[in-house]
Amino acid sequence: MASEFDLIRRFFTRPAPGAVLGVGDDAALIQVAPGMELAVSTDMLLAGHHFFPDADPFQLGYKALAVNLSDLAAMGASPRWATLSLALPEADEAWLAAFAEGFFGIAREYGVDLVGGDTTRGPLVICVQIMGEVPAGQALRRSGARAGDEVWLSGHIGDAALALAHLQHRVTLQPHEVAACLPALHTPTPRVELGERLRGLATSAIDISDGLLADLGHILECSGLGAELAFAKLPASPVLRAHLHQPVARDCLLAGGDDYELCFTAPPARRAEIETIGRATGLPLTAVGRTGQGGGLRVLDENGRLVESQTKGFDHFGPDLSRPRPVSPPGPPDGGEDARD
Ligand code: ADP
Ligand code: MG
Repeated sequence: MASEFDLIRRFFTRPAPGAVLGVGDDAALIQVAPGMELAVSTDMLLAGHHFFPDADPFQLGYKALAVNLSDLAAMGASPRWATLSLALPEADEAWLAAFAEGFFGIAREYGVDLVGGDTTRGPLVICVQIMGEVPAGQALRRSGARAGDEVWLSGHIGDAALALAHLQHRVTLQPHEVAACLPALHTPTPRVELGERLRGLATSAIDISDGLLADLGHILECSGLGAELAFAKLPASPVLRAHLHQPVARDCLLAGGDDYELCFTAPPARRAEIETIGRATGLPLTAVGRTGQGGGLRVLDENGRLVESQTKGFDHFGPDLSRPRPVSPPGPPDGGEDARD
């Protein structure tokens, strides 16, 4: 049986050219470039709560880093370094190899060095800390939105929740629809380049991990504003759109988490610049409404009627765990897949 140190050496020790010192000492050493601030965020994924215990290890490795990258994207920061803390029930080498492949695959793609971590025995928990750089004073904060700003969304939202609803038998999708939605759930794309390009342009930003209503709600609360959105403008994928007659699909669009798209605000005068970014990145960017003084967050249909969601987004400690507890598809007994940060 491999020792803890063998495992670290074999699976998690890679060159870290962007660090002064990487894995192997009591601490890593990193040097932030002059004029930059260090942006730090961490996310924990628990088996049976955030993902099915038998989840594909490659996808887990990918997603564990992806959700952290998404947090830096939402700050307009450029990812540089990460640490990885793992509690593992056993030293399953095939599992670790696949996990490491998923993790380092996306790490390479985004120029992130793994510089340290911790490895211990226990119920499967994956905890990643991500560090990045942002020019001093330029990070995108939740608190910067101003009344009259437009509210923007990247990509499509709701597909990850729709895929999860399908796995939980709350909705039935055709095989080609499942294939179209599952990547949003298992291998979301963090919008890092968009976040970087929005510096100095967006007044606030957040990544949608807990659902549009909840996450935009955080921006509004931090900025002391309300907002009105047009339901018809919300960027639903063709698959989600085809199911919008069902309340469960409408909830995916309004309150489904896990898409890791960005929601941001910007003055209407910046619209053309934002559209240019959309074209340059090949990522659809959609203005879905406006912020205003107070009035909460309201979503209106084409007749000006309020569109309500049965759920408000995910809150681990909320009084109403709005969405049904994750139930496993045939397979793991106490499984769940509910990855959010
Ligand atoms: P310590 O006893 O000082 O906490 P450890 O034995 O836990 O040190 O770790 C040894 C080295 O391996 C450290 O540099 C640590 O950051 C790194 N490390 C441990 N686990 C991981 C991991 N899962 N991924 C990356 N680096 C790790
Ligand atoms: Mg340790």
